[in-house]
Formats: sequence, structure tokens, C-alpha cells
Amino acid sequence: MNDEVINQQYCKLGISPTVYAFGKKIEEKLEKRFKTIDSVAEYNQMKVIHAMQERKVSAECLNQFTSGYGYNDLGRDTLEEVYAECFCGEAALVRPQITCGTHALALALMSNLRPGDELLSPVGKPYDTLEEVIGIRPSKGSLAEYGITYRQVDLINDRDFDFDGIRQAVNERTKLVTIQRSKGYAARPSFSVDQIGELISFIKSIKPDVICMVDNCYGEFVEEKEPLEVGADLMVGSLIKNLGGGLAPIGGYLVGKKECIENAAFRLTSPGLGKEVGASLGVIQSFYQGLFQAPTVVAGALKGAVFAANIYEKLGFSVVPDSTESRHDIIQAVTFGSPEGVIAFCQGIQAAAPVDSYVTPEPWDMPGYDAPVIMAAGAFVQGSSIELSADGPIKPPYAVYFQGGLTWYHAKLGILMSLQKLVDAGIVKEENII
Ligand SMILES: *Cc1c(COP(=O)(O)O)cnc(C)c1O
Repeated sequence: MNDEVINQQYCKLGISPTVYAFGKKIEEKLEKRFKTIDSVAEYNQMKVIHAMQERKVSAECLNQFTSGYGYNDLGRDTLEEVYAECFCGEAALVRPQITCGTHALALALMSNLRPGDELLSPVGKPYDTLEEVIGIRPSKGSLAEYGITYRQVDLINDRDFDFDGIRQAVNERTKLVTIQRSKGYAARPSFSVDQIGELISFIKSIKPDVICMVDNCYGEFVEEKEPLEVGADLMVGSLIKNLGGGLAPIGGYLVGKKECIENAAFRLTSPGLGKEVGASLGVIQSFYQGLFQAPTVVAGALKGAVFAANIYEKLGFSVVPDSTESRHDIIQAVTFGSPEGVIAFCQGIQAAAPVDSYVTPEPWDMPGYDAPVIMAAGAFVQGSSIELSADGPIKPPYAVYFQGGLTWYHAKLGILMSLQKLVDAGIVKEENII
């Protein structure tokens, strides 16, 4: 199609010809990277279809609507087998009763640790909301309140595993090791699945029976391999991120060793009941279809992240990962160095949304976070961050974390709109956009 015609559509949405032309120039240089992203998506698409066929997903699975106790829910039980098959686990727990990623992780920890045990993070500080789960920041019901202690080994220079430090930290009480794949709100790079494998091999060489759990949030389907394929015992994440494919309206998952999953099921429902109860209330169809869509949705989000890195690096901002680095999650961090930059960026993402595009996001004190956070999300599912979204804690270095996009085209619009807002606010000079 004539580029002029496409440009006109962007104009209608408020993108200036200068910003559009700049984006086009950047995009042209990304052809090879986009091809690589597409081939990973293709591989993972086949992986999902294979798992669904192996587990004989049927129309009956999709039509299950159980209520009440939810006994004998074929759709729910088969979906859990599909997850186990797809991600090389012995079992899985995939439920709408798991309310979010933090809940899924808390569930994994609280069900697999007992009083007197110790939890180890060998990759530095975990994701903000887990601080209260663990009790790093005191909170009601934390692991600390139940007599479960926590130890942390920081990364060297914010990127390398401190193998000596880890060797010293592992002790007779170390029961579970938590490894966060994605950087979250930290400045360090995200880990590749192979790096995680290397870390797990090292830890298991010191203590073979320790449970290695991977916080897999934002990492799913970014690579061909997932953590269970490199020795993890448990991988955990949210269904309003990658694996829900934008369609799951709620939910979280755990996949891994049978015993770990059983522990989690007994904790989620009740001792004695475990996986047998938990009505699916008609949402299971979207879990199946979301998983089916997830590889291509993740690919679109990745293209958006790579595009953003290239745009903002060119304009002189610090970006993590940088414009050429390989990707291990869908998050892109851009450091603006000022609250105004973070706010303008997020307002641009919001203005590009299909839903709530007319609202202007402002920083607020969000539960679980220790600084005001501004969030942009015009999502079909509240808070869904596989949909185009951005958030930035209003604290130095004033970085924004950007992720998602159910389609590459929407991600592209969002990034161009963010740039437009930065130009409108005078933070980026129009004459620099060449
Ligand atoms: C999003 C995220 C979580 C928490 O998930 P919520 O759904 O926001 O509760 C935990 N860890 C990482 C790395 C995440 O990205």
C-alpha cells in the first residue's frame, strides 16, 4: 500500500509526519530482527498445537462451565495437562482462582516452604510485590511471620551470578531457590533460559534436593526453551501476561514437579481437596485460546520492545535492553531522567489505546509498591500487561518500563504516540528527530 495512505491514518490519530517518518526509518532497519522473532513464534506455535493435540483437547473441553465445587471439570483438568505437556512439566495448576502473578508466586512459596526452611534468591532483590510476600518489607501473612527465613545474594555488577556468594549462602535449611527471569523494576538485564540453566546446575551441584523455582513472568515464549527444560522444578507466572495471550481475563499458572504442584493445589484450595475442586465458571475457553494465541502475541510485543529501544536509543536515552541485544523478556526500560519524561511517555501509551484513550494517567500510590507509580493501560482486561502498557515508579533514575501490545501495529502506534507526547512537551526537540 502507498505509504502516504498509511501515514494519513497515523495523522488522524495525532502522529505528526515527522514522527511517522522517523519511525519508518527505524523500522526499515529492523527487518532481520523481526524475522528472528517470527521464527521463534512459529516454533512455539507448533509447540502449543502439539501439546493440545497430544492431550486431545476437544469441543467438550471448551464448553465446560462448572460452578460450585467444580468437580470433574474436564476443561480445567485437560488444560492443566496441556500446560504440563507444553512446558515439559509433570503437572500444572492453571486456575482463575489464582488472582495474579504475585498470588501465583506467593502460592508456590507458601505451599512448598515450611517453618524453619530458608528461601534463597541468588539473583538479588526480587520483584517489588514479593518483598511483602517474603517479609523483606513487613506484612501480614508474610513468609517471615511463619518462621521462614530469607537470604539473598546480589548479582556482581548488576549482571553476573556471584557463584562464591551463592555457595556460601546455601545451607542445610535452604529449601527453595527463587530465580526471577525478567528484570522487573531492576536495572539488571533479564536472564536467558540458558543462563538460568547454568545457575540451576550450579545450585543443584551444591544441594541436589533444593527446589529451583523460576518467576517466569514476561519471559514465556520469548525463547524456544522454557525454564523446566534446563532443570527448574517449578515455573510460575500470570495469565494476564504472556501466556493468557490477551484473552484470559484472570488467572495464574504453576508448572513443574508433581509434588510441588500438589503442595500448591492443597494450599490454593484446601488440604484434602487440592486440584479436585475449583469451578472454571466458563473462563477456560479463553485460557485455551489465549495459550494458542500467545506465541504470536508475544512476538508482536517483542517487536514493539525492539522498536522502542531503537527509537529511544537513537534519541540519546539510555535503554535496557539496548537496540541490538538479544531478548529474554518482553520488557523495555527507557530512562528519561525526569518525572516529566516518564509521565509524557505513559500519557502517549494511554493516548494510543483502544480503550480509555481519552483519560490522562497520573502517578499514584499503588498497593505493593514503595514509590508513586504512573501506569498507562487502555486494556480490554484490567491491568493486563500483555496488552500495550507502561509503568514507571516516580523515583530516580526515572525509568519507564514498557511492555506488551496484542499486535505489533498497536505497539508501534503506542511508541510513536509516546514520542509525539515527548515532542509536544518539549522534552524531545522536533529538529532532533531525523
Ligand atoms: C508482573 C510480575 C510479577 C507479579 O505479577 P502481578 O500479576 O503483577 O501480581 C512478579 N514478578 C515479575 C518478574 C513480574 O513481571
